[in-house]
Amino acid sequence: METNPQYCPENIGFSTSLKVGRKAKPEGTIVNIEGVKIGGTEVVIIAGPCAVESREQLFETARAVRNGGAKILRGGAFKPRSSPYNFQGLGEEGLKLLGQIRKEIGLPVVTEVMDTRQVELVSAHANMLQIGSRNMQNYPLLKEVGMSRKPILLKRGMMATIEEFLLAAEYILNQGNDQVILCERGIRTFETSTRNTLDLSAVPMLKRLSHLPVIVDPSHGTGLRWMVPPMAKAAVAVGADGLIIEVHYKPEEAICDGHQSLDHDDFINLMTDLKKIAEAVNREISLPDPS
Ligand code: PEP
Ligand code: MN
Repeated sequence: METNPQYCPENIGFSTSLKVGRKAKPEGTIVNIEGVKIGGTEVVIIAGPCAVESREQLFETARAVRNGGAKILRGGAFKPRSSPYNFQGLGEEGLKLLGQIRKEIGLPVVTEVMDTRQVELVSAHANMLQIGSRNMQNYPLLKEVGMSRKPILLKRGMMATIEEFLLAAEYILNQGNDQVILCERGIRTFETSTRNTLDLSAVPMLKRLSHLPVIVDPSHGTGLRWMVPPMAKAAVAVGADGLIIEVHYKPEEAICDGHQSLDHDDFINLMTDLKKIAEAVNREISLPDPS
């Protein structure tokens, strides 16, 4: 019986002819963030608070996640909030704190850029630029970060198909920047028991269709602290090249997303479990010496 090409992703034009398509680079792209490589054998863990709140909060968590085995720190300085009355991030003050992390703690940092007018400022402090879910189809912003020479973490739009997601990445590659990481962070469905529906089938699909590394965000993907560890483990098992996880030193006091943030101990315990899963699927997670 003939298969309908519409239902066969390998037959969609982008998989063969576009720059993001696997055929453009069958061996896969490795994204290099100040020496941390995503897309190779190692599963790279990015961790940190939802938002930068203070120097103490950022540095305490940065130290804890580094000691737990995270290789990159996350933290928002400009926050896309559903309500305009909620905390919008510390802005430039937050960026300055992030800018000190690499030298003082030794981790590169990723932070969100929401506006074309902020790309230069955010690039001056961050080692990787995040395009959030709400901006995945902000084409001027995609073109602008494509012109920058920073690695880009592109989060899947909450209502985006795989094809739309890959075409968004294509906008960045088209400007000559191929240092793009795709991030599955959950999509909106009819289900209300979780914040989003974490589409783990997107991981093998994206890896089949594209040469770009794929990571998973189980924090926004579930919205539930207790569900982060099992979904993080599942993500590594299905072939994710990395994870981005929200960690806060006092989750109950977090200004945003405390309910889905791990505390330092939860994170350290999770890392030990993730290492075992990674090894079971012929990948690696290197943990620092406990000494
Ligand atoms: C975030 O990672 O801080 C964030 C806001 O995520 P998303 O864009 O996936 O909602
Ligand atoms: Mn968050």
